[in-house]
Amino acid sequence: MSDSLPLPLTAWPELRPGWVWLCGAGPGDPGLLTLHGLNALRQADVVVYDALVSEDILSWAGNADLIYAGKRGGKPSAKQRDISLHLVELARAGKRVLRLKGGDPFVFGRGGEEAQTLVQHGVPIRIIPGISAGIGGLAYAGIPVTHRDVNQSVTFVTGHDQTGDTPGSLDWNAIAQGSQVIVIYMGMKHIAQITQRLMEAGRSASEPLAFVTSATLKQQNVVESTVGTAVDDAKAAGVEPPAIICIGRSVLMRQVLDWQSFEAGAAPRNLDPLDRGRPAESA
Ligand code: SAH
Repeated sequence: MSDSLPLPLTAWPELRPGWVWLCGAGPGDPGLLTLHGLNALRQADVVVYDALVSEDILSWAGNADLIYAGKRGGKPSAKQRDISLHLVELARAGKRVLRLKGGDPFVFGRGGEEAQTLVQHGVPIRIIPGISAGIGGLAYAGIPVTHRDVNQSVTFVTGHDQTGDTPGSLDWNAIAQGSQVIVIYMGMKHIAQITQRLMEAGRSASEPLAFVTSATLKQQNVVESTVGTAVDDAKAAGVEPPAIICIGRSVLMRQVLDWQSFEAGAAPRNLDPLDRGRPAESA
């Protein structure tokens, strides 16, 4: 089935009956699915997919049964167990099962929990990583998640835990003081609380912040803001999940690296955003 992939057929792994492959579908743009993901789609008997997996990607699934297992934040966690056990049942029925999740399956996606349940039930698995929204989604907004002049570390944070609250185990002081760039998944519900805590821990109200909604998709929208004005700006702009939030000076790089604007006809500009608009030194 892998005949049109750019390697000899034998080089691609075979999805065997009774196995489950847990695969990341990337943040949205179907072109960001990996070749291993495509290879899996072409072999699967059943694809169990989440809310943020695009229809284009599902359309590559050949004749597989498509089962929707989507759920959005705040729903009872029992459902997660049901999904995992359903995967076990499908595998035991001898199906070639592909579990497709948005972004990367091991980044805030409960892929680790599903994989653990499968292994505990004796089901063999393969993990296919994907491009996570916190990296690829920001790249589509022209925000490099690291830049030598900005940050030597980046912290990926979830905006809420199993109970739906901001994670109590997070040490916001340490994050505020230790990480120049903070990338927040599932942060919309508690954005007021999060920005407040960061400011209390010493982050400046004027520090750049960006909301990237529906990142990598046609309807992608970017709202540039600051830590101090984020709540009002999000409200005024009608920012809706799914949104990835980036806090830090790397957001300024978007002034020159918003590559999607070139497709709309904008001309590349010789500025150094980190220097507040002075021309970049010539190479
Ligand atoms: N495993 C996924 C994350 C799942 S958690 C990954 O690696 O990307 C779901 C959260 O991811 C959303 O609430 C949002 O914060 C973020 N997210 C996923 N896809 C997104 C997209 N296309 N645009 C913006 N945010 C996205």
